[in-house]
Amino acid sequence: MDCLFCSIAAGEIPSAIVYEDAEIIAFRDIQPAAPTHILVIPKAHIPSVDGVCAENSRLVAHIFEVIPQIAAAEGLSNGYRVVSNCGPDAGQTVPHLHFHILGGRPLRSEMC
Ligand code: 5GP
Ligand code: ZN
Repeated sequence: MDCLFCSIAAGEIPSAIVYEDAEIIAFRDIQPAAPTHILVIPKAHIPSVDGVCAENSRLVAHIFEVIPQIAAAEGLSNGYRVVSNCGPDAGQTVPHLHFHILGGRPLRSEMC
C-alpha cells in the first residue's frame, strides 16, 4: 500500500523522530504550525479516527500514554494541544491516523 506515514514508520522516508517503540512512532511535522509540532502515529495502518475499533483502540490508548512523555521531553510545561483531523471537512491530508502535538506558544482558542 502506498501510504506516506507507513513509509515513514518503516524508515523508508526519513523523518526527525522524537520517540519510537514497537507500536508507535513520533516525528516532527515537516511544516510546523507552532514552535513544537510533532505527529504521533501507530505503525499499523489505520486510516483515521473513523478506523479506531475494539481491535486496535489499545494503540490509541498507548499513544495517549506516550503523549505526555513527549510533551515533557519537549519542555511543554505550560500546556499543549492534541489534534486529530478526520476526513475532508477536518482537512485531513494524510490518510493514516495521526495526532498532532502543538505547543511552544499560546495557541488560539478557536476550535474551528
Ligand atoms: P493532516 O493535515 O492530515 O491533519 O496532517 C498531516 C500533517 O503531515 C501536516 O501537518 C503536514 O505538514 C505533515 N506532513 C506531510 N508530509 C510530511 C512528511 O513527508 N514528513 C513529515 N514529517 N510531515 C509531513
Ligand atoms: Zn499508512
